[in-house]
Amino acid sequence: MLSSTQAERVRVRVRVRGTVQGVGFRPFAFRLAREEGLTGFVLNDEHGVLLEVEGDIEAVQRFLMRIERDRPPLADVQSVVAEPVLAAGDDEFRILESTRGGVPDAPVTSDSATCQDCLAELFHPAERRYRYPFINCTNCGPRFTIIKGVPYDRPSTTMAAFEMCEDCQREYHDPADRRFHAQPNACHRCGPRARLAVAGGQTVYVPGAVDAVDGAARRLADGLIVAIKGVGGFHLACDATNADAVARLRARKRREDKPFALMVASIDVALDLVELGEQEQAALASTERPIVLARRREGGAVAAAVAPGSPELGVMLPYAPLHHLLLADVLAAGCGVGILVMTSGNLSDEPIAYEDEDALERLARIADLFLLHDRPIHSRTDDSVLRVVDSGGGRRIMPLRRSRGYVPRDLELPVPTPEPILACGAEQKNTFCVAKGSRAWVGHHIGDLEHYSAFEAFRHGIDHFERLFAVVPRVVAHDLHPGYLSTQYALEREGVEHVGVQHHHAHLAACLAEHGLEGPAVGAVFDGTGYGTDGAIWGGELLVGDLRGFERVGALRAVHLPGAGAAIREPWRMAYAWLAESLAEAPARPAGLRDMVDERQWEAMGSVMASPALSPQTTSMGRLFDAVAALCGLAPRTSYEGQAAVELEAAAARSSDRETYELGLLEEGRLLTLDPRHAVRSALSDLRSGVSVPAVAARFHAGVADATARACTQVAGVRGLDSVVLSGGVFQNRRLLEAVAGTLEREGLRVLTAQALPPNDGGISFGQAAVAAARAC
Ligand SMILES: [Zn+2]
Ligand SMILES: [Zn+2]
Repeated sequence: MLSSTQAERVRVRVRVRGTVQGVGFRPFAFRLAREEGLTGFVLNDEHGVLLEVEGDIEAVQRFLMRIERDRPPLADVQSVVAEPVLAAGDDEFRILESTRGGVPDAPVTSDSATCQDCLAELFHPAERRYRYPFINCTNCGPRFTIIKGVPYDRPSTTMAAFEMCEDCQREYHDPADRRFHAQPNACHRCGPRARLAVAGGQTVYVPGAVDAVDGAARRLADGLIVAIKGVGGFHLACDATNADAVARLRARKRREDKPFALMVASIDVALDLVELGEQEQAALASTERPIVLARRREGGAVAAAVAPGSPELGVMLPYAPLHHLLLADVLAAGCGVGILVMTSGNLSDEPIAYEDEDALERLARIADLFLLHDRPIHSRTDDSVLRVVDSGGGRRIMPLRRSRGYVPRDLELPVPTPEPILACGAEQKNTFCVAKGSRAWVGHHIGDLEHYSAFEAFRHGIDHFERLFAVVPRVVAHDLHPGYLSTQYALEREGVEHVGVQHHHAHLAACLAEHGLEGPAVGAVFDGTGYGTDGAIWGGELLVGDLRGFERVGALRAVHLPGAGAAIREPWRMAYAWLAESLAEAPARPAGLRDMVDERQWEAMGSVMASPALSPQTTSMGRLFDAVAALCGLAPRTSYEGQAAVELEAAAARSSDRETYELGLLEEGRLLTLDPRHAVRSALSDLRSGVSVPAVAARFHAGVADATARACTQVAGVRGLDSVVLSGGVFQNRRLLEAVAGTLEREGLRVLTAQALPPNDGGISFGQAAVAAARAC
């Protein structure tokens, strides 16, 4: 055995891949090397972190073990590969400048909530960053939203214009400091500033307030509405316990019924409002800080107008230092227990505002005041939204919107792609996705492309991601719908191979791929609208498929969509269509609709339905839920997408009824048809005989769940398959999902649901990329 003085001296080169830039990896390596008495260097380059260490062999081995085990909290290390190199005999360990050039593929990190260390400084009067709304360090702060290019360095962020003061410089250059190379590092003296303004943009001061944030808090406590610039865009805020303020915000925002999200001071406050299990609490407190939808408690201290008729509330915790200050100041101003409405800063369903001038203009009629700051937002990102569901085999997270905090974290493709891919996604809830090799990056939630600014964000977002991740697409995947702007954009890209992916196949593939599977599996894919391979509007589909292809093995019975697009906004039209289909005669106007739909309109549906041009056929499950909701008198006209189904689910939640409507399952040729006509007739006669709306809603949910589970079990049996994918926007319905998943699990089938991406159209782009990759092999 060698004595320590004779120990073998070695040098290794270490390549660390993963999300390792902008997370304090280099100072971590620096401290580790010093502790182990090693020399060498570390640097960021376009592939991640490259380092060399030299010294005693045992110390080098310990270093390699610890670099994985003790990594910084925000780092996501994918691989550490070490190879021996010749000893260089350097005398110390150094952090070298980033190298530029080459092809970047080092991941950019997502925005992260303020860490405990920064929070402690924020509220400590002796600290130089006491009450500084933009405090951050290598373990927290904005990332994706401020980044303009790679490598991730201050000049390629929106912080480039702020020159660090001497104190900030010292921290930035000291490897022992928590702010070593923290790119957004700043302080009162040198960094971004907040100000309070009126709609015209002029700064205002609130008498007695210590600063702009305190001023905003005092005005919120007075009942005013304040537009607040945050991390990824603007929120509109008001005191959630002030009924008058909430009603005013709702009226001004022209958001008739859609629930408002809440920001609460602490988990304890959240616990008074909603029921939170372990997973919900962990999600709330995570560095991603999503909005968590959870069952509301009776008697929670918020105004009724926050979420009228909704069995759930969306809550989140403060995630930027500015939010932490605001909530503390609101409390100090005597404003209840610290609950703010924090709804996205937009009018109705438009994309949220993220630039000061745009916000001052677009939100002028909604907000009384604006809390602004001068740190530009490069990429607009909405708050992410999730809920926890029991989708068979335990409680799991289901994302409903994946954006701030999660984007641009990469996902793995089960089949690596030989060619770089761009997948353009769908039309509503759009996201895009770029991929190369086995890695895919799904972009931030863009929204509905029909809004001009959303389409702009879509194009800019794609350019941005192609540069950030050095993806030069050779394959461009798109939906089959020729009218989608995302399809048109895809087809306009020249010099690439175009791959059309059927909408529901993309849903199926997205779910398989996020679980690392290639299939085949049975898929029950239920949503509102998707273009079928036959040009019809699909939406209640039973598929058997893998990543490469699919077969349509069943569908909901087709009905007319009276007035096409109008039928989506006016569910009462779908009630007419399904009644006509179920009764084999012109239906009379049901009692529940008498106050809301006049007789002439109702009668006119007969001739609208007779025109194939006005009323295409659809197998949409979303529209069936609309029809039954309208039949119950719920949301005959909607003010937001999916409202009728949401209200039907909410009604069912108020019932303990255990009965079930019978849906038929018919073999028609090679297609299995789900026939709900009997269920529609049962609902109608139950309502006529005075059965309550909640009971009817519960029976309908149970019926659809039962028929869906039977159909999936039957197909799985015939095809010899053991996995079932449940996806599509309709499966955001917790009651339906839990019932179908529970039955399938009891039948011994493996149930796959969306966990990394939403089951709605936000997941389509990843599915398209997975299909294009599999087909290219
Ligand atoms: Zn921090
Ligand atoms: Zn400074």
